[in-house]
Amino acid sequence: MYQKTEAIVLKTVDFSETSTVLTMFSRDFGKIRALAKGGRRLKGPFESALDLMSHVSISYIPKRGEALDLLTESKLIRRFRLNRENFGGMYAGFYLIELLNEMTVEQEPTPDLFHLAVETLSQFIDAKPIMPALMRFEWRALEITGNFPSLDFCVFCGEKIGNSSPRIEFGHWDGGVICPKCRFGTRQISVITPALRNAICQLVTPNQNAENDETQEAAAIDNSQMGPMRALLNRYVSHLVGKRPAMFNYFSKMK
Ligand SMILES: [Zn+2]
Repeated sequence: MYQKTEAIVLKTVDFSETSTVLTMFSRDFGKIRALAKGGRRLKGPFESALDLMSHVSISYIPKRGEALDLLTESKLIRRFRLNRENFGGMYAGFYLIELLNEMTVEQEPTPDLFHLAVETLSQFIDAKPIMPALMRFEWRALEITGNFPSLDFCVFCGEKIGNSSPRIEFGHWDGGVICPKCRFGTRQISVITPALRNAICQLVTPNQNAENDETQEAAAIDNSQMGPMRALLNRYVSHLVGKRPAMFNYFSKMK
């Protein structure tokens, strides 16, 4: 009855004096909500491996219906250490797990998203350029979960929208670009440029020339597109998850 997998800790809520309820995103079983009996004790079966953002290997007993799964073992693979020198990475990490919590569901495995999350958190820990890595994660996560916007073809009529126009309408509710013929009456529109659209495509498309695993490459964005891309993502992601993620307030302070 035991299941074994790897997971990232998304949320912890104290349940009693000794126990914790954890929300985790697992590699093989999607999101898991599990009770860790004794999870608040310093010494126990969980080796203090239940901190937010920790990458852990776990054993648990799945329960039926609304009942919480029961976590039986948790071993730390990598912990995100809070570091005064790396506030940017810390905020980005908190946002990443917030997004994972919003975008994943129980019983629905998305191992690609799990590997992407682990890889991106490692980049935050190593303090590689944070914002490009974060935005690459966001676009790829949208892609993996089937929420990537239509960037080349009008969401209404399917007409290709080329680079000839300097302004392209992007509908947040409608999930992508909208041609001039179809834009009447549409709401929640951002205007994007062909340069921004190219920057997004470059970020999500693996470099065909790279011999190495694409994970080794640091994400790169043209400096002039950083601000417009952040603004577009803030609005698009807010629409998607139905609220403005708390961490957006910190991004304006990050360089
Ligand atoms: Zn159209």
